[in-house]
Amino acid sequence: MKIAALLFLFSVFSSSITAFPHFFPNVSSIPPSLLPNITAGAWDSFNNLSGCHLGQKVPGISKLKNYFHYFGYIGNISKNFTDDYDDALETAVKNYQLNFNLNATGELDESTVKQILKPRCGVADIVNGSSTMNSGKAASMTGHTVAHYSFFPGTPRWPRSRRDLTYAFEPRNQLTDDVKRVFTNAFARWSEWTPLTFTESNNYNTADLKIGFYGGNHGDGEDFDGVLGTLAHAFAPPRGLLHLDSDETWIIDDVFASGSPSAMDLESVAVHEIGHLLGLGHSSVEEAIMFPTISSGIRKVELARDDVEGIQACHGARRGVAVTKTSKAGL
Ligand SMILES: [Zn+2]
Ligand SMILES: [Zn+2]
Repeated sequence: MKIAALLFLFSVFSSSITAFPHFFPNVSSIPPSLLPNITAGAWDSFNNLSGCHLGQKVPGISKLKNYFHYFGYIGNISKNFTDDYDDALETAVKNYQLNFNLNATGELDESTVKQILKPRCGVADIVNGSSTMNSGKAASMTGHTVAHYSFFPGTPRWPRSRRDLTYAFEPRNQLTDDVKRVFTNAFARWSEWTPLTFTESNNYNTADLKIGFYGGNHGDGEDFDGVLGTLAHAFAPPRGLLHLDSDETWIIDDVFASGSPSAMDLESVAVHEIGHLLGLGHSSVEEAIMFPTISSGIRKVELARDDVEGIQACHGARRGVAVTKTSKAGL
């Protein structure tokens, strides 16, 4: 009985506690011993599906259906997916291609597979059946401005009474000041354009925004998948949770060497996830921070015009800050 209880405690402990994430100031400081572990990404087996199309039955298609289900492209009809390339999968592939600016053929051509393999944010592109990206725009054309940025369904946002937000770090991660500074910088990229302010708090329980690194199943139903694959996810207001995959190799100090291994730039991912914390969904604009994928070895931290327009439509502009030359004044 005692042993069972201990085992139970151990499993709870090991599933929820974070392995200490790996941080490195730059790519050349990653010890070679870590590199062999990061050659196989979570989705590499999708390479075998290149060229597949409607009517085929190929081992591995069920896993791809799970992928599309996870990101909202296949509804909740069945979780026991077959290896049949059926109509539902073809529609999913077409919508995916629309969202990622690819030819909407419904076939798994090379460029589509290449896009699918890229590391990405774990937040779905299609939420409750409505696409926040290109594939949903036809339906929203009847509304006002057609923009690329998007919000989560119901447009959740921080109310005017909560514009001065606090953030705190999962104490168990024992993050260093260098890592924390990456997030300070990432928050500043959004506060620059909006009336929102972000202040670090030492009280994790009461902070508006809670940041932590976790591995695998960490209790919110959105498991991480090891190296590459999904990198992070965050929840819309007012939940305020920002989770990052502790199995990634995170780079905290700029500049990537060319041909760098599977290391991810922490600030790039942090800026994107903060967009979700503030209510933004994914965008089909590739330059936008809110585009869902990012390749390893890429640093992308500057808000694009699309991001600025999105966040200002949601929370207004910082006094005296206009979006760009041609923006609507007083937005
Ligand atoms: Zn995202
Ligand atoms: Zn999570």
